[in-house]
Amino acid sequence: MAFVTLKDVLPQARVERYGVGQFNINGIQWIDAILNAAQDNQSPVIVAASDRLVDFLGGFEWIVLALTAATRRLKITVPVVLHLDHGQSVARCLAAIDAGFSSVMFDGSHEPLAENSRLTKLVTDYAAKRGVSVEAEVGTIGGNEDGLISGIQYAKLADCQRLVQETGIDALAAALGSVHGEYVGKPQLGFTEMAEIAENCQVPLVLHGASGIPDADLTKAIQLGHAKININTETNQAWFQSIRESLATGSKNHEPRLVLAPATAAISTVVSDKITLFGSAGKG
Ligand code: 13P
Repeated sequence: MAFVTLKDVLPQARVERYGVGQFNINGIQWIDAILNAAQDNQSPVIVAASDRLVDFLGGFEWIVLALTAATRRLKITVPVVLHLDHGQSVARCLAAIDAGFSSVMFDGSHEPLAENSRLTKLVTDYAAKRGVSVEAEVGTIGGNEDGLISGIQYAKLADCQRLVQETGIDALAAALGSVHGEYVGKPQLGFTEMAEIAENCQVPLVLHGASGIPDADLTKAIQLGHAKININTETNQAWFQSIRESLATGSKNHEPRLVLAPATAAISTVVSDKITLFGSAGKG
């Protein structure tokens, strides 16, 4: 089954007020875990590789081949988007598209808006000719993303409108107080700004840093127009917890599978729980 794009899954989610989960892969076990959970729940799913991890994971082509093979082997019939998370440059986004990713995020949020818009447009022009979807970011999502540490900077409505208008992106990550990685204290999402941006931008919103946000806040963000919800830290925490428990038994086992299989199942459980919470079960 060919990968679909954000354009195939997000507009319906936005209209019907549910969220499609983006789950990042951190190794090969994440692929089966995420796909199996999506299929079990009959949910569309966005499988993402963070650009910072692409080479560690084996490179763009390996990721495309691995995910393609897994969807066939596991007989996946639900819609699957293969997405580049936080593309670090125009060239990296183009390379992901050439390798077969069906969706890319260009993250020009650290640039002044005019430059962010100019660079994003280079990506949307290239992507449009190849039927690939594009996400872009305004403002700064705080926290630690695979080693990149940044402070929160809220997105401004006028900047969001300008970026959407000038580039024709398919999804907008507007920074509204969420944080990558673990939260220190209670997450403070800007719901007033969120409602204003959702209403005036007419494009599905993306919530980065969704791990650790209370369920009620996630539900509210979805009701206000977030159609794509990104989860990475919580699947990683579940994986580590399972590995720690396996190792703590003191077993002298030397077969990695015996440690990795339960950890894979732990990832699946998190993905299933999020799919249920986001309301995308049965929408695939
Ligand atoms: P978390 O690590 O907080 O789940 O964020 C994931 C994310 O936004 C990936 O872009």
